[in-house]
Amino acid sequence: MAHTTGKPQALLIFPPVYDFALYDLFLRPYALLKLGRWLERSGYAVTLVNALDYRKIENETGLKTPRRKPDGTGKFLRRVVDKPKVLSSLTRHYARYGVPHHILEQKIRQTHPDIILITSGMTYWYQGLQEVVRLAKKLHPHAPVVAGGIYATLCTCHAKNILEADEIIAGPAYPALCTILKNLNLPVPFAPPEEEYLMHPAYYYDACAIRLNSGCVFDCSYCASRTLGGEFSPGKAEQLARVVKNINTRFSISRFAFYDDALLAQKQKGIIPFLNQMKTLDAKLRFYVPNGLHIAYIDTESAKLMKQAGFREIRLGFESARHAFHSTHGFKHTAEMLGRAVDALKSGGFAPREIAVYVLAGLPGQYPEAVEESIRFAAAFGIQVFVAEYSPIPGTRLWPESVARSSFPIDQEPLTHNNTLFALQWERFTRKDMEDLKMLARTIRHELFKNSPD
Ligand code: SF4
Repeated sequence: MAHTTGKPQALLIFPPVYDFALYDLFLRPYALLKLGRWLERSGYAVTLVNALDYRKIENETGLKTPRRKPDGTGKFLRRVVDKPKVLSSLTRHYARYGVPHHILEQKIRQTHPDIILITSGMTYWYQGLQEVVRLAKKLHPHAPVVAGGIYATLCTCHAKNILEADEIIAGPAYPALCTILKNLNLPVPFAPPEEEYLMHPAYYYDACAIRLNSGCVFDCSYCASRTLGGEFSPGKAEQLARVVKNINTRFSISRFAFYDDALLAQKQKGIIPFLNQMKTLDAKLRFYVPNGLHIAYIDTESAKLMKQAGFREIRLGFESARHAFHSTHGFKHTAEMLGRAVDALKSGGFAPREIAVYVLAGLPGQYPEAVEESIRFAAAFGIQVFVAEYSPIPGTRLWPESVARSSFPIDQEPLTHNNTLFALQWERFTRKDMEDLKMLARTIRHELFKNSPD
């Protein structure tokens, strides 16, 4: 195939999102960028089209510029769209988040791909994937389209039925993509992808996603970490420290969001040496943990180092104050450990408002009283408490029970996994109960922090 650069061309696409709400907590195409770098090193010319680009868009679109915060989080471009029928019982607006369709079309049209790789996120976000697969097929009918990512892995049959993609990758892109490239007579990289981030700096924007370890040490019944990330595998602190320094020096990026599911696991060999290197740097770096940290692994040493290295706002997945919850769903900590972790964080220098804990609500057969008790238990430590709404995920241990108990067709239609729908509502735990619990958490937060500075 003829190319202007003489190199084979790979087009990577991060699709738009259709949902009731979407806030950017460092949502970056982490796996896609890693894949892109891997292909670049193997002689490909790689272009990324990011539909969730929130920066100034070139054309007059009539859409409001999204409000962003100085820490790199914020809103995306948003256009209200019709709700799919299956979500019509909800009164909230449903929206498409991302750059407008015609701009996406222009961006994809400008490329000359030999292969198109498209990723996917939440199972109930597949409309965005569907949109870009169609666009890619229309604009580049001769380029094979490969779809992968979370939805493609967890809902493979659904993806095969509704997508016009040539290939669906369920699970890790490597080594499946090698076989696909070989069959297409395209160059096949000879080594597996590594943790490197040297694709064009324009792709990072104002924050970079990084990862130290892969997988998780626990296997909670409601979580797909094991299915998606495999067994826990420790990363290399030295290597990550080099990557962070490199990105900071070359591209002046100082905000880094960890995509780890178990950042503090095996900490003496992993995060502690990493933090020790970071705290000595002159550059003022900021680190964020959108996926949260494990309560059981927080001690004064790690808390102090995190603060010194530039961590802000610590997120903790507390889930429940009830012992029965943890013994049923995955024994990652006991309720008592929360107090110890909060003490350690405070003595490490974190202010109470920098500590956010999440209580999980809406599991099959759960009672709202159990959630309320957990909110009050956690709030008694004077920290921020939020309600995390359960979303049923195929492949998890809780999936069969979720399918059996839900009054929605969750095994047929992934849109019903949307946590706003509350697929596991029942007569003792209704959508109104869920709203009341969220309001309770909001009121407590307001009461606790109304006098503290932002
Ligand atoms: S500890 Fe967190 S990431 Fe690990 S399995 Fe449980 S919920 Fe998932």
